[in-house]
Amino acid sequence: MEHDGTHALVTGGGTGIGEGIARGLAEAGAQVTITGRRADVLAAVAASHPNLHALPMDVSDEFSVREGIAEAARLRGPIQICVANAGIAEGGPFAKVSLADWRRIMTTNLDGVFLTLQSALATLPADAPARMIVISSIAGLRGLKGAVSYTASKHAVIGLVRGLSEEYMRRPITFNAIFPGYVDTDIVRGQLSGLMRRFETDADGALAIMAKGNRHERLLQVDEITASAMWLCSEAARSVNGQTIEIAGGQS
Ligand code: NDP
Repeated sequence: MEHDGTHALVTGGGTGIGEGIARGLAEAGAQVTITGRRADVLAAVAASHPNLHALPMDVSDEFSVREGIAEAARLRGPIQICVANAGIAEGGPFAKVSLADWRRIMTTNLDGVFLTLQSALATLPADAPARMIVISSIAGLRGLKGAVSYTASKHAVIGLVRGLSEEYMRRPITFNAIFPGYVDTDIVRGQLSGLMRRFETDADGALAIMAKGNRHERLLQVDEITASAMWLCSEAARSVNGQTIEIAGGQS
């Protein structure tokens, strides 16, 4: 199998997009460490496949990330595939965003990616090949109304990916970002009740409103994001570096 003997780490690997990518890698033979704050969620997913391994870890906590990733590497070897996927989406009018709200988003979506990538890179011997993938968002390419902090955090991780792709150019490591549009996961489902109230519609109506955020006006499914991550991890993508791949049914 393509990833036999490889150790992969997927943050937020217990749900949604992260779970999809973790399963794809596990089925391709990788030993996959999945992380998140909810130990019960991770344990249930890990119980479903022998190659999935639960590691409770909070990406907004430096100690938790540095210790957690070092421990995962002690158990299963250097992190040769790292998917920095964990993130939160919160919105509201900019005038009402408190500094605490702003920091909560930035600490998770930006500091969390910084800590994850730096800690994963620290596990690698100098000549080891590796693939580093960040899950950004269409909010990393264009502004999303009512989600300025989220938009800023998802733009910022592109800078990390592009900067790292230059800094590590002489090593066999690639850094790329995926920009999904609206995907049918908990993050999207969590916004339905607000939309139902605001537009006086039912759940299907609210889902249709979310789908309109994608250019082809369909909600994306997790397997569409998994496929692009699997390609970025493949031998065929060894020279794809510093790139941003949008999956949103059209151009932003
Ligand atoms: P989910 O809510 O299913 O996934 C988010 C994951 O991140 C959860 O597993 C959650 O686990 C984890 N997480 C959140 N905060 C932390 C934290 N502080 N420490 C560790 N883990 C954390 O939604 P998605 O799968 O949709 O989201 C995954 C990524 O994709 C996010 O970065 C999101 O911004 C991005 N994205 C999603 C889109 C969508 O439409 N669904 C579109 C574009 C981008 P736990 O709560 O247990 O910690």
